[in-house]
Amino acid sequence: MIHIKKHFTDLAIFGDTLTLNDKLYVGRPNIGNRDRLLSRINDILDRRWLTNHGPYVQEFEQRIADLVGVKHCIATCNATVGLELAIRALELKGEVIVPSFTFIATAHALQWQEITPVFCDIDPQTHTINPWRIEAMITPRTTGIIGVHVWGQPCNIEALTKISQKHNLKLLFDAAHAFGCSYKGQMIGNFGEIEVFSFHATKFINSCEGGAIVTNNNELANKIRLMENFGFAGMDNVIYIGTNGKMSEMSAAMGLTSLESMDEFSEVNYRNYKYYQQELGGIPGISLFKFNEQEKCNYQYIILEIDELETHISRDKLLEILHANNIIARRYFYPGCHRMEPYRSYFPHTRLLLPETEKLGDCVLLLPTGTSINQDIIRIIAQIIRTAITEAKTT
Ligand SMILES: *Cc1c(COP(=O)(O)O)cnc(C)c1O
Repeated sequence: MIHIKKHFTDLAIFGDTLTLNDKLYVGRPNIGNRDRLLSRINDILDRRWLTNHGPYVQEFEQRIADLVGVKHCIATCNATVGLELAIRALELKGEVIVPSFTFIATAHALQWQEITPVFCDIDPQTHTINPWRIEAMITPRTTGIIGVHVWGQPCNIEALTKISQKHNLKLLFDAAHAFGCSYKGQMIGNFGEIEVFSFHATKFINSCEGGAIVTNNNELANKIRLMENFGFAGMDNVIYIGTNGKMSEMSAAMGLTSLESMDEFSEVNYRNYKYYQQELGGIPGISLFKFNEQEKCNYQYIILEIDELETHISRDKLLEILHANNIIARRYFYPGCHRMEPYRSYFPHTRLLLPETEKLGDCVLLLPTGTSINQDIIRIIAQIIRTAITEAKTT
């Protein structure tokens, strides 16, 4: 490991872009134009309209609806509350089928409302829920399916739509990763009954914290609007049970500013993705998750799969070496929702039903990308990985 670190030092001809003391993180936020943001913040302070569907939230919702080509967009304080609202608006209950290979919020949004998440295995090619495993999991208590567009890679939406129609199940998508992505030429946000985006700091577009519920269904949109604001139908008039799911003006100001740089962010991400492809190409046992370049994609994630039989080094050892060299790579969705509480205790044998989820969770490694990374850095990251593998083979 010391040897690699020295190697890294030798290679570190960064000019003034990076010193060895800088850590590179997965999910480091992309920041849009600072002056635009500050001028919006000044507007907010001048207006003294800080929240409750202010002008920036309205503008943010309109921009998202236009970009996605969807009828209704309701901005939320975050995507987790967005999912909870969507689940409630769809009147899901009993059991809902979800992948375990997702961020814990997908499962928690159900369990929080005492709905049982039934974990389904994934397709190892797309990393998304495997439609052909769903029918065997349907019981009389099943009311819906939540697909997750992991990494911005759309689920097999066509198959999921067919299955949900056949069994009269509601179909909801956790599109937290998939803002700016398309499926068969149509923007994500138009599928199922409802889709939910996240604008958390680590996501492609961020509003510090935030999310959006999108739907083409008028009735659902009206219901969610009420639920998001305590059920208020007007001043002093509550007609429904609700919560506080509103986005603030400050968040919308950040979100709007981030949206203005959307093309730049995806260009940078795409360029980084191609550099990674080029630099990691010849390393045996390392494969980079491939996106369909015919579709729109935000390329927000760089996903490696480590085949330990070929690399002779485990994913976790490689992670350790990268961290020791200030590259803060991450395991994602590890160890999988089914192995986290409370699900692990509720269903201790679930892992037997999820061989692909288990396998993937043990071999995935995410690398940094975004506007704080460039070709030189990618070359060095690849060099560290190559050296680690070469050394593992010779020792
Ligand atoms: C980030 C994320 C969420 C939660 O989003 P928040 O805005 O942080 O609440 C839900 N699902 C997935 C797949 C995510 O990655």
